[in-house]
Amino acid sequence: MANNIQAIRGMHDVLPEQTPLWQFAETIIREVLGAYGYSEIRLPIVEKTELFKRSIGEVTDIVEKEMYTFDDRNGDSLTLRPEGTAGCLRACLEHGLLHNQVHRLWYYGPMYRHERPQKGRYRQFFQLGVETYGMAGPDIDAELILIMERLWKKLGIRDKVRLQLNSLGTIAERMVYRDSLVSYFQGHLEQLDEDSLRRLETNPLRILDTKNPAMREVVANAPELMNYLGDDSLEHFNAITTILNDLGISYELNSRLVRGLDYYSKTVFEWVTDELGSQGTVCAGGRYDGLIEQLGGKPNHAVGFAMGIERLLALVETLDAVPLKSSVDVYMIRVGEIAEQQGLRFAEAIRNDIPGLKLQVNCGGGSFKSQFKKADKSGAEFALILGDDEVSRGEVSIKPLRNAEQPQQQLSQQQAIEFLQINVQGRPNG
Ligand code: ATP
Ligand code: MG
Repeated sequence: MANNIQAIRGMHDVLPEQTPLWQFAETIIREVLGAYGYSEIRLPIVEKTELFKRSIGEVTDIVEKEMYTFDDRNGDSLTLRPEGTAGCLRACLEHGLLHNQVHRLWYYGPMYRHERPQKGRYRQFFQLGVETYGMAGPDIDAELILIMERLWKKLGIRDKVRLQLNSLGTIAERMVYRDSLVSYFQGHLEQLDEDSLRRLETNPLRILDTKNPAMREVVANAPELMNYLGDDSLEHFNAITTILNDLGISYELNSRLVRGLDYYSKTVFEWVTDELGSQGTVCAGGRYDGLIEQLGGKPNHAVGFAMGIERLLALVETLDAVPLKSSVDVYMIRVGEIAEQQGLRFAEAIRNDIPGLKLQVNCGGGSFKSQFKKADKSGAEFALILGDDEVSRGEVSIKPLRNAEQPQQQLSQQQAIEFLQINVQGRPNG
């Protein structure tokens, strides 16, 4: 027999038993973003390679070694999106959405990076991206943090994440800082690893981001970007922390937080956790005003963040109890020819009368015993049992599957509908 074909390494199936967890988080994400008046935007998964090179920057991990790039049949170089910020901005520029307007947008979907797969790091992973345009801040920078804070609370993981905050200042401020950083590291070359020696030439700020414990000390003693910020950048930063203090949101200043991408300015932040090993950043973002011009737009403002959904779900899974709903509320058992025939009709009547109820009808026959086993396995709260005798009397039995104290009842079909209307948990939004 030929070998079975397997999924691509680092790209995962989400099996039916896992989808309730995903849907739980997705529902909360939609609700929270809705509460702040954000609109969804849907974007292509493939873009021209040039878009990512120009926005993310040639000397970043993503563009240097992580992109899935290929020539299409016309010979154009295309890339599976490694992140959503570039595509979102490309779309808004292309459709003229940034002209004298403000926008609060979000998107959700898979991203692709050719990294070494490990826990919390995949080659296809999902992100929630939130992007805002046209607002100079600092209030909008703070609003994004409020959204994330609310999301953690609703998901029950507020005490598992910490907010880290920094300012990267303006490009000009960063250039000055970059020079002193380079001279500092040049004085400590023997303490730099191979990656950092390379970055010293290309992207020295990224050295601060190193995950190599052997470099902890040399990084800890490096000059701090905060000391190179001008008045405007400092004022912006202080205004954000004032808002956070005012609203009781705790944060840590982390002067080593530089983010991997070149396009950030002023505010940068990450939400980190200690519960997921070395893949501890769940959510990251910041202000990237300069990217708009870099992609051909007029000077404007942009701030946003991206959240890794697999890491988010891994955190939710560390909770003792996740309130997940089964995808079946009621399971219908049909034994006998008349019951099989009448059962489908009765099931349609139930679905008409109780919108939102999840009713699964046993298909493919089987003995009462085998159907009952399937009912139990389905996760349903109640089984509806239809035999030929019951059906000919216009009746049905309802058997509670999760509560041994509740008795089985024989009811008329109309009474059964009323019973389900009252007794099935979690409707009508389930
Ligand atoms: P890291 O430092 O972990 O590589 P990053 O800086 O490359 O992260 P971003 O580009 O800021 O990550 O993406 C935002 C979020 O997307 C990350 O904080 C993380 O939660 C998630 N993410 C990034 N890369 C991956 C991946 N390969 N697999 C799973 N999630 C990822
Ligand atoms: Mg990365």
